[in-house]
Amino acid sequence: MNTAKRLNKTLALAALPLLAGLIGCSAGTEAPTGITHERLVNSAAEPHNWLGYGGDYGEQHFSRLDQINSDNVDQLGLAWNFKYELDRVVQAVPVVVDGVMYTTSAYSIVHALDAVTGELLWIHDPKVDKAIAGTGCCDAANRGVAVLNDKVFVGVYDGRLEALDAATGELVWSVDTVVDHERNYTITGAPRVVKDKVVIGNGGAEYGVRGYVTAYDADTGKQAWRFFTVPGDPSLPAENAAMEMAQKTWFGDRYWKQGGGGTVWDSMAYDPELDLFYIGVGNGSLWNYKERSDAKGDNLFVSSIVALRPDTGEYVWHYQTTPGDAWDYTATQTITVATLPINGEPRRVVMQAPKNGFFYVIDAATGELISAEKFGYVTWAKGIDMETGRPIVDNEAANYWESGEGKIVFPGSQGAHNWNPMSYSPMTGLVYIPQQTSLEHFVPLPSGEIVKPKKWDANLGMVTPVVPETPEEIAQIHQVYRGKLQAWDPIKQEEVWSHPHDHIANGGALATAGNLVFQGTADGRFVAYAADSGEKLWEVPVTSGVGAGPISYSVDGEQYVAINVGYGGSFGISFGALSQLTKVLPDSRIYVFKLGGQEPLPEFKRRTVKMPPQVAPRGDAESIANGKELYGLKCGICHGLSVISGGLLPDLRMLTEEKHEMFLGTLMGALQENGMPSFADRLTVEEVGDIQNYVIKRAHDLRDELIEAGYPTE
Ligand code: CA
Repeated sequence: MNTAKRLNKTLALAALPLLAGLIGCSAGTEAPTGITHERLVNSAAEPHNWLGYGGDYGEQHFSRLDQINSDNVDQLGLAWNFKYELDRVVQAVPVVVDGVMYTTSAYSIVHALDAVTGELLWIHDPKVDKAIAGTGCCDAANRGVAVLNDKVFVGVYDGRLEALDAATGELVWSVDTVVDHERNYTITGAPRVVKDKVVIGNGGAEYGVRGYVTAYDADTGKQAWRFFTVPGDPSLPAENAAMEMAQKTWFGDRYWKQGGGGTVWDSMAYDPELDLFYIGVGNGSLWNYKERSDAKGDNLFVSSIVALRPDTGEYVWHYQTTPGDAWDYTATQTITVATLPINGEPRRVVMQAPKNGFFYVIDAATGELISAEKFGYVTWAKGIDMETGRPIVDNEAANYWESGEGKIVFPGSQGAHNWNPMSYSPMTGLVYIPQQTSLEHFVPLPSGEIVKPKKWDANLGMVTPVVPETPEEIAQIHQVYRGKLQAWDPIKQEEVWSHPHDHIANGGALATAGNLVFQGTADGRFVAYAADSGEKLWEVPVTSGVGAGPISYSVDGEQYVAINVGYGGSFGISFGALSQLTKVLPDSRIYVFKLGGQEPLPEFKRRTVKMPPQVAPRGDAESIANGKELYGLKCGICHGLSVISGGLLPDLRMLTEEKHEMFLGTLMGALQENGMPSFADRLTVEEVGDIQNYVIKRAHDLRDELIEAGYPTE
């Protein structure tokens, strides 16, 4: 940043307390009120607040504050931290309004905190039935709240959308957003407000659901409109012209009998200049294109950005990043609205770095593709044809549904970028992407029946996951599964600088006007870089892995930086073998830093290796092999593929003889209240025995490994 710019910013900051006074800044515990559409449109005028998930309507994840800057960031210290009730996944980007912070922890529990002291003002627990945790793909996550007028809105894991009194946390209204409770609809995303409405989508495309978003009147909870993202039963009239268009791109009958996917589980954004509301649509269900649609058609609107009229939900345009998606390439990643100089002319654009590994710049008014280039390691497509705007799919590399034996494809289902928010700085003109490398071994399973609801048998959409078992296999996979913070020039479509990380699944990014970029890491660090040069300027250890995006805000003229910490999600549970390598433990908190902060950092404990208890081996090779397959389909998604837990949920290799006596009862529902689902309707007693035999075998694998490494046996 040049000196003149910095001076201007400093002057702007000096005026902040005055500005805050004019618009009714209340430090401390007073009720915040009056977050209106107008204030959201003009959010740049109140940079001391963070008014929604992405900070503003355009979701730039950018703070205009610069009191903390690249010259003094080394003086950042802890102002306060708040420990959540559960040491479980935390993915929320907090919202801050006039000195009050609203944020969420696992199972959609909302907290209002004094943004200066961290004092708990109120808590709202929607009391999710913990036994349904297994109905979602990726842990009981929640990415935060929205605020409008005097209300706070939260999407609840079981599909409720709730409005709370911002001052007291009392429930004002609650609606059920789910169209079919026989299907695995969940909500993990943050609601978005637009004008006088609140909008929410859902998750569930790994299980066979039909995706949609619904808008509700923010005052009353009355439904205003609903937009389905994929067609339903073709014998019934289409809901609207967009669904009529989409219907022609689907084949067979499986998609409408079980739901074609296309869930809007994360990103949405609004452009007040164009009055368009953008939704990011997820993968097709099942993943396997042949099973889903006879390997024909584009399958609109899976893996697309769709622009809607916010007042009516009317379709305006779409851009499909992955036509006929077969690889879980959701287009649900951060949608950023900005004005960029394109060929010397300012142009309103939306930008996205979806899972599929291409960075897209799209005309915000029309959906026309402006440019697209690979930002990560990609094998499924050679490039994007700029004539048609379509990917040039590499069939040799990526078509697994016709191949029989399967294909290893980059990126895998974790994507080249996942839900962890990217940030755009209008000052540097750069986008900061929590980029990563992942692969998937897509093996088509034998053609199955229509996916039954409430089952994980939809497992990864009829493909088998990569299951590294031995230390050598895990080390190999770890060589590939890496991340980096990547500064990307969206006009030149090239990397400007990057910092490698040892693990995938790192936190979201925050750029600030102080020439800084903040990011947390999977291995428990919170780091600041110079936004222009990428120089690393500051780092502190935090007590768990970070997935969430940071924010910045100020109260009474003092700037803070906040980050939610608490690893989990698909990385922390399914990818236990990789997440264990980060050596972080479950510990869920929010950390808030300021210049000269003096609070001591909570003690950072590293994970240590434990010897599994001695349990007699059981079962023959056939039973163990059957147990391995069943474990992969039913258990691995939560307890860790290959029976290596990420540490959030019990590591089954550590079960004692005593616990093993309760194994059958546990699978049949004895611990449902603790969040362990019942498998009584999905597994026979014999099958449970096979799974148990495989689990015991894996305990012995670890014992052998540790004994060989010289660990004491007990
Ligand atoms: Ca998915």
